Amino acid sequence: MAAEDIEPVAKPPSNCLGCGGPLPPSKTRPRKYCSPPCREVARNPPKPGYSRRRRPLPDFAKDAGWSLRKDIDRFERIFADDRFPDYKQQVAASVRGHLEYAAQVCQDLISRLDHPTGG
Ligand SMILES: [Zn+2]
Repeated sequence: MAAEDIEPVAKPPSNCLGCGGPLPPSKTRPRKYCSPPCREVARNPPKPGYSRRRRPLPDFAKDAGWSLRKDIDRFERIFADDRFPDYKQQVAASVRGHLEYAAQVCQDLISRLDHPTGG
């Protein structure tokens, strides 16, 4: 191996190369970025015309859909729980408003999906 093949050992940065903030200590190898988002922005700089990278909307929507379904499953488990009859009043006080809000907003969103034009 020739000497010129050996890269000079760079001193690890004392601050995040992305945002300039303090670097958390690392037991493995020296960090250059304080967080995955800073590393991501440094690796994929924003394109001109975009303020920042955005996830493709269909991916975002798919994740939101599965997340919603998981939350609904949680409610179903709560309502199916053997303790539910004993705690029905308290559960109602905690969740009724959220469920009514969800039902109303979801109905509105569905009607927007079914609307023939625009959003
Ligand atoms: Zn940073």
